[in-house]
Amino acid sequence: MAILTLPDEAYCARFGPTPSYAPVGGWDQREPDRLVKTHCCFCGVQCGIQLKVKDDQVIGFEPWEEFPVNQGKLCPKGVKRYLQNGHPDRLLAPLIRSESGFRQSSWDEALNKTVEAIKSIQAKYGKDAFAFLGGASMTNEKAYLNGKFARVALGTANIDYNGRLCMVSAGAANRMAFGIDRAANPWSDIPLAKVILIAGSNVAECFPILTDYIWRARDQGAKIIIIDPRITPLARTADLFLPVRPGRDSALAHGILHVLIERRWVDESFIAEHTKDFEKVRALVKTYTPGVTEGITGVPAASILKAAELWGPAESSMLLHARGIEHHTKGVENVLSYINLVLATGRIGKPGCGYGTITGQGNGQGGREHGQRCNQLPGGRDINHPDHRQFIADFWGVLESELPRQGLTACEIFEAIEQGEIKGLITISFNPLVSIPEANRTRAALEKLEFYGAIDFFLNETARHADVVLAGSLQEEDEGTVTTGEGRCVRLRQAVKPPGRARVDWHIICDLANRLGKGELFCYSNAEEIFNELTAASQGGPIDYSGMTYERIENSMGLFWPCPAPGHPGTPRLFEGGRFFHTDSKARFHAYDYRPPAEDVDAEFPIFFTSGRVVSQYLSGTQTRRIGSLVDQYPEPLCEMHPRLAEKLGIDDRELVTVITRRGEITVPAQIVKTIRPDTVFIPYHWPGKKAANQITHRALDPISKIPEFKVCACRVEKAAGANGHASIVLESPRRK
Ligand code: SF4
Repeated sequence: MAILTLPDEAYCARFGPTPSYAPVGGWDQREPDRLVKTHCCFCGVQCGIQLKVKDDQVIGFEPWEEFPVNQGKLCPKGVKRYLQNGHPDRLLAPLIRSESGFRQSSWDEALNKTVEAIKSIQAKYGKDAFAFLGGASMTNEKAYLNGKFARVALGTANIDYNGRLCMVSAGAANRMAFGIDRAANPWSDIPLAKVILIAGSNVAECFPILTDYIWRARDQGAKIIIIDPRITPLARTADLFLPVRPGRDSALAHGILHVLIERRWVDESFIAEHTKDFEKVRALVKTYTPGVTEGITGVPAASILKAAELWGPAESSMLLHARGIEHHTKGVENVLSYINLVLATGRIGKPGCGYGTITGQGNGQGGREHGQRCNQLPGGRDINHPDHRQFIADFWGVLESELPRQGLTACEIFEAIEQGEIKGLITISFNPLVSIPEANRTRAALEKLEFYGAIDFFLNETARHADVVLAGSLQEEDEGTVTTGEGRCVRLRQAVKPPGRARVDWHIICDLANRLGKGELFCYSNAEEIFNELTAASQGGPIDYSGMTYERIENSMGLFWPCPAPGHPGTPRLFEGGRFFHTDSKARFHAYDYRPPAEDVDAEFPIFFTSGRVVSQYLSGTQTRRIGSLVDQYPEPLCEMHPRLAEKLGIDDRELVTVITRRGEITVPAQIVKTIRPDTVFIPYHWPGKKAANQITHRALDPISKIPEFKVCACRVEKAAGANGHASIVLESPRRK
């Protein structure tokens, strides 16, 4: 089988020799009936892949070498993604909770029960007492439909999505700085950069194929700077690694900018012509000398100087960042502080010069564009803006006064459930019990609901608490579009039909809308009709897809928005000529002083706790924990700790440790590694129950983006009570394929 490359160097650095890519039992050697050109269902690179289909089953894959982004390369997750199809855990029919667990039901019974619960709760407590939570792994069409369903059919303000745990700090910062929320450059600009600064992103594990772009730049002489509390696989190949103390990212950006200004490496004419408010930033960073910055961040002053020396005089440069700087109570401020570095040097809007946000979820970009966020209408319109409200009300044929106002964000919805203000909930492709901080509170909130309905393809941990489970569709069982992390809208092709009595997600949503009396607004015969409505709704909005059609997307291997007219070629690179999207065309500097995390270390909890992902798992693990060969690569959560910390605590490698925060504790084996700061421990978050890292994280939110502070809180670490020598933990696992 021809395939695979990458990111073997990065992968091996972390895990040792690359494992066999063959699935348990070997590759399926049968001749396929057809090959379907589509995309990987996991991260925001959205690698092209051809699925092999036989007898309406996905039996394997072939590389799709013509798709320009990955040119046939796939990471370990992409290679195994096809194994989720035909999995024995696949939901095949609707389920209704009974005395003895779940029983299968007819669609009529399950949908009627759901609609009765919606009507009864809303009649008793008001429309907003019923909430809806969507997902950012879903297609653009479903993201659009989720928003329309919640506002028009449910009439609730309380709709949000799981991107609230992922991309929202970057999105808010992008809009504040540039007036638009999208990566500034296509990925093909990365190899053209002479310096690449990567802040808070474990690219090789979370966005693996992008590693290839960075290494291509490195092979052409680019310098790579990485900022992270952990020496990630990519950091091991970097020119400069800045081991920032968790929660201090904005101070580090201020320290670098201080040196850039002192050494006159800022582009004064670009700043004067194309930006506003630089003087506020100049005044702010005056006190962030390398010495002061070292004191706050733990990064040696000499390294801060070196970073400025690399970035300052470079002829071209790219900034990439991800959740490492965004998952904070000051996530937006962190991102804005790094954007200041880009604007100050004026290196944006040109080949090899710019900025990108790395999107962890499959449709992390498109999932946040089409109206499933609590403050947003289609086309990226603002739900609080009178003209935007009127446009969408007219477009949908409803009264503006009937359109709900801004509702609660994802974590706030769970707090409203705790407080008894929200009584009913539907989730789709979202597993909050694993994803939201303080899992015990999430579990208790679910039990308080008078009705909970889940639309999903596997019975995830949250869906186990549902009254009704509506068996939906896997990515390969539906068609539609997604928008990649670089802003390229690509086409997903349906490879197989949903199995058994499972249904395509959007059919379920439309059926619910019909039973709620709004069927005339949800009449679609295929996903393309939803897409055409979505693009028309976006016309003239901040996120304009109105020039796109399925045919155009397919013919051009994806189209970049803005694409505001039928003949428009799309916009791969934003901000050319220094034109930004604020009404005066100028970008904005933002001067936010550093402030500490919501929960800092102290005598009682002296160690930083941080969480993140591993290469073989995806988000809450609903899919990847079911694929045996991915499980084998990283079977259980481990607590990474530095040998110096381990020695101080008397802990051996693989010995069970308990990590305790003010919210709870988790017991997992220790993994002693030199690649983490000695004051910090790390546990990946993909597992549920007693092995959920989110038992101990906290829900302190960024005031603008409302993202929780996943990346830093205070903990202490102890040998597990009763632990005796080295150990492994027994996980309650779903079946593996
Ligand atoms: Fe590509 Fe991401 Fe899928 Fe890996 S997980 S194959 S990098 S889309």
